[in-house]
Amino acid sequence: MLSASGGREAGTIARTSPVALGARHRRVLTVRGTVQGVGFRPFVYRTAVALGLAGSVRNDAEGVVVDAQGPLPDLDRLGEAIHTHAPARAVVESILVADAAPDLTEGFLILQSERAEPASARVCPDIATCPRCLAEMADARDRRHRYPFINCTDCGPRVSIARDVPYDRPNTTMRAFTMCARCAGEYADPVDRRFHAQPQACPACGPKLSFVPDAGGDPLAAALAALARGAIVAVKGLGGFHLACDATRPDAVRTLRARKRREARPFAVMFPDLAAVEREAVVDEPARRELASWRRPIVLLRRRPGSRLAPDVAPGLAEIGALLPYTPLHHLLLEGARVPLVMTSGNLTDEPIASGNDEARARLAPLADAFLVHDRDIQMRLDDSVVRVMLGSARVLRRSRGHVPEAIRLPVPAPPLLAVGGDMKNAFALSAGDAAILGPHVGDLESHDSQRFFEEARARLATLFRVRPTAVVHDLHPGYHSTELARRTGLPALAVQHHHAHVASCLVDNDRADRVIGVAFDGAGYGPDGTVWGGEFLVADLAGSTRFARIAPMPLAGGDAAAREPWRMAFACRLGAGLPVEAASPAERAVLAMLRSGSGTVITSSAGRLFDAVASLAGVCDRVTYEGQAAMELEAIGGDDAEPYPLPVVEGPLLELDWRPLVRAVVADRAAGVPASRIGARFHAALAEGIADVAGRVRARTGLATVALSGGCFANVTLTTLAWRHLRRRGFEVLTHRRVPPGDGGLALGQLAVAAWRQTHVSGDPR
Ligand code: ZN
Ligand code: ZN
Ligand code: FE
Repeated sequence: MLSASGGREAGTIARTSPVALGARHRRVLTVRGTVQGVGFRPFVYRTAVALGLAGSVRNDAEGVVVDAQGPLPDLDRLGEAIHTHAPARAVVESILVADAAPDLTEGFLILQSERAEPASARVCPDIATCPRCLAEMADARDRRHRYPFINCTDCGPRVSIARDVPYDRPNTTMRAFTMCARCAGEYADPVDRRFHAQPQACPACGPKLSFVPDAGGDPLAAALAALARGAIVAVKGLGGFHLACDATRPDAVRTLRARKRREARPFAVMFPDLAAVEREAVVDEPARRELASWRRPIVLLRRRPGSRLAPDVAPGLAEIGALLPYTPLHHLLLEGARVPLVMTSGNLTDEPIASGNDEARARLAPLADAFLVHDRDIQMRLDDSVVRVMLGSARVLRRSRGHVPEAIRLPVPAPPLLAVGGDMKNAFALSAGDAAILGPHVGDLESHDSQRFFEEARARLATLFRVRPTAVVHDLHPGYHSTELARRTGLPALAVQHHHAHVASCLVDNDRADRVIGVAFDGAGYGPDGTVWGGEFLVADLAGSTRFARIAPMPLAGGDAAAREPWRMAFACRLGAGLPVEAASPAERAVLAMLRSGSGTVITSSAGRLFDAVASLAGVCDRVTYEGQAAMELEAIGGDDAEPYPLPVVEGPLLELDWRPLVRAVVADRAAGVPASRIGARFHAALAEGIADVAGRVRARTGLATVALSGGCFANVTLTTLAWRHLRRRGFEVLTHRRVPPGDGGLALGQLAVAAWRQTHVSGDPR
């Protein structure tokens, strides 16, 4: 009856039991998922103690093991609580329940992690300050009253301070701080909310603020005074520096824009609370949930007319990027400033965010008037994530802080792989078993600094997840910097076509691996036929893809310049549509000559370039400073559902959406004085209708009835919503992105899934 207590650590077994052995049962619950570093063990401890159960809880290599003894109903209650009351950040993927023979164990213990712990144990994303910490921070009697680094097991920095696993204090940048007696007491007390909170700190022993230039006073007060004067202050946050200024002061915002050389890209604005956001922007329920969530991303919202934000916050756009404070320091700043603050990443355009104090002082000196810094080091740079509400739910457009390094399940188990992603909006991914770990948003890989950031982040996540890649996956483009980075690893390499990777990414995002009609619309991707792809209809699964249709090709005059100057696309499309073109300037004459002779041009089927052409023809935008700007401005002015322009499908071995009638109609509308907003609306409707039309024809040939929408163009709410509607009306199932960006930020996930499939099916695909 009495089992041997072998395997249980000495000292954990008491001699008596409160429950008669006959009524006592023992259960071992093996919990898998994101259950480490999220306060899971203390939660189990508190629950078990409240139920009067005996036993223990510990971390193992892949999760948490609960070994509990007591009456059956109470064991059931414990299991239920783990399902329904786990800490907000925990993701319980599975619970394996096994019965065991009860013994005389008394009391409940949290057992220390063994050294050999977590091969795949998960370090969780950084967590916004929780309500209980905020209440303490506001309480004048609390010892952490107004302490800018207050945190607990429910909140605070996580992956941004992690150096290694197991996620314990000596493996974080908090090892530089020795806990005072009171902090150490809380840290060691299993019933305390700060039990094993690794960033545990207080004003006596923890990180401290400082202000540069230092005038000897309170650093926070000095920063607030500077902001009130209209100065630009570099503020150290969780994953890097922000550049902050008063978002209601046109002079300050204009100065920041000029210094950052960020001609048009929108700035994020941090508001003190939800009510303040709602005064400036329209906030629906999904957006509200997202804004207030523990992830605290930037949420794109429609600006209210008469908003008091400076116009330069988001020039030419109807939306602003809003976010709420997510560190105690942010809360103190916003409370003190009494105005919304611009909070844009601390960098020059196209450079990575600055994270080290010295690095920031050097790199941001030309941009900031002052610095509000602290002495807790950042181990991983993380930009703010960006989400947008589409079709009633939040969609991640930039995946970084609050998401990294949360795993995404792969539909096929993978060997350890590194997928390097693409060159724009770069993010890489690693596979560990059936989990894909996406790295932070790195940005454009053009600069040396970005490539260093890539290497840093890759090395860090490989360490945290104990991944040693056996192969590397990259884009088919031979000239990409990312392809070069892949080559430099010296690992066996695998190339995946850009738009196939987009569609695969959408499949994985939806936990699918079946064959679908993939619509991949973006700015540009390397096509295996030597042309630039970007308006593609592929029949694809993880194994491969076949192109069935495309947007009819158009010439890019002058290579990259064509993407920066939408008027060049307008010229190309007018000419292609048989319309007269007048060249006034020397540049225009040169482009016209190129288009007529074909020399210096490349062929593209890009949807992004068609957006550019229409934006220019409609008089909205002739020059852009960032990818997707013309499309965003066209969307911004767009009206409601309108009569679509003609965009017929031309049959052939490769179906083509013929844009020539559309371009002629746009030009006629413009000449007739039709407002640009209506032209934009009719164009969006035409593309959506065209997508559904082509999908219908592909279904007729293949029998496939699921469409996956991917590529940067599906960050566009209008296009996505209309395409979804048209497709649903025709009876299609429609897959869209949710957790992973539709644009190139999601490319690595698709690359990983395709490579994983190929590697596991290399010896004979059963189909
Ligand atoms: Zn907290
Ligand atoms: Zn302390
Ligand atoms: Fe792309």
